[in-house]
Amino acid sequence: MSLPVRSLPVIQNWDCHSCSDCCRTYHVRVTPEEQQRIIQQNWDDSVLGGRPAFIWEPAIGSERLNHTADGACVFLGPDQRCRIHARFGPEAKPAACRIYPFTLAAVGDHWRAGLRYACPSAAENRGRPLSDHAAEVAVYADLVEQESPGAAAKEPPPPLHPGQNLPWEDILRFADTVDDLLADPRVPFGLRIRRVLTFAQLAKPMRSAALAGGVRPILKVLAAAAIEETPTDPATLSPPGWVGRMLFRQAAMVYARKDNGPDAGVGRTGKLTRFWAAWQFATGRGTIPRLHRAIPERTTFAQAETPWGELDSESTQFLTRYYRVKVQSLQFCGRPHFGTTFWMGLDCLMLTFPVVMWLNRVLTATVLPSTPRASSLATLIRAVRMADDHFGYNTVLGTARQLRAVRILAERGELARLAAWYSR
Ligand code: SF4
Repeated sequence: MSLPVRSLPVIQNWDCHSCSDCCRTYHVRVTPEEQQRIIQQNWDDSVLGGRPAFIWEPAIGSERLNHTADGACVFLGPDQRCRIHARFGPEAKPAACRIYPFTLAAVGDHWRAGLRYACPSAAENRGRPLSDHAAEVAVYADLVEQESPGAAAKEPPPPLHPGQNLPWEDILRFADTVDDLLADPRVPFGLRIRRVLTFAQLAKPMRSAALAGGVRPILKVLAAAAIEETPTDPATLSPPGWVGRMLFRQAAMVYARKDNGPDAGVGRTGKLTRFWAAWQFATGRGTIPRLHRAIPERTTFAQAETPWGELDSESTQFLTRYYRVKVQSLQFCGRPHFGTTFWMGLDCLMLTFPVVMWLNRVLTATVLPSTPRASSLATLIRAVRMADDHFGYNTVLGTARQLRAVRILAERGELARLAAWYSR
């Protein structure tokens, strides 16, 4: 019997609104069984835009669903709905298409379901509450368990640090403490992120012997200390240093990039262009390469540094929902996040905050700096969707090089300085 799925306590709604964004953006890998099943459905190539249903994708070492010349999955019909789904029902589709945008993390004796905010309906909170999807998510959990029977129940908790192992209930208490700090409605969202970073800074040196007597009282003390010690005014923190800025821009470049689908960057591809884009991000001067179609033309790196004050309450609520979903669904560490430790995964998630704020400024750059409060909820949602498209999925972010960069940012206190700088 498969593990039960537990709903998230945070309010999150979703329903598919058939925008077809995922069908145009992602290359869906198919297993040999899925490929065989679709072949037996006897699709005529003429229905599929004259293209074969599958194509070999060297980058993933697997067959994947083919796309038409305009970039859409060959099975996307003119009504923006999946032809396989329409003709044979949802069970006939590849598992990846069925499960998206849900995420599943095996957490001890249950699954935790989350959502990818790359999907516009998830980001915009449109549809029924997640709890209404419990039955279908349980089916998805079954599908995942069938791939590797028994593995979910044996999934080990992510260590705090390499080799520092705690039971699942303690790891979840750490996550709950982070969630509580993110949920505090009395303070600006940037301060909440910095409190989480202070909490991490205080808790990281604690060794297993100190935690042996039970983590609950220690976490309470550390959370109170984090609230007490984190400066409330971001202006009191010194600006990010040279190393911090450079490593930040390298991460921002990964999050700002889109290679497939309708949002693919508009610059020419090729080694030289990529090298030039990397050079521009390294120096942080001149115009920002349009690695994603949403980046306005002629936006400069300098424009993205313009201060614009605190976020309004709608934007704060949106960011609260996003980060709480990521934390509560344990999408930031362990198997869902390149197998990272709890602390490394948390630092990676915290780095997305300045990245999102940077992207938010870039996307509104056409009206900056003349309009200091140019941010809108729609732009912020776009920025989060861009970042969430990569978080936990773009393998570049899971490389040793990138994780080392995040470690340097955390150890030098640059994560907190970046969060403060882009909260101005
Ligand atoms: S991106 Fe989301 S809303 Fe749009 S088709 Fe995919 S699952 Fe549905």
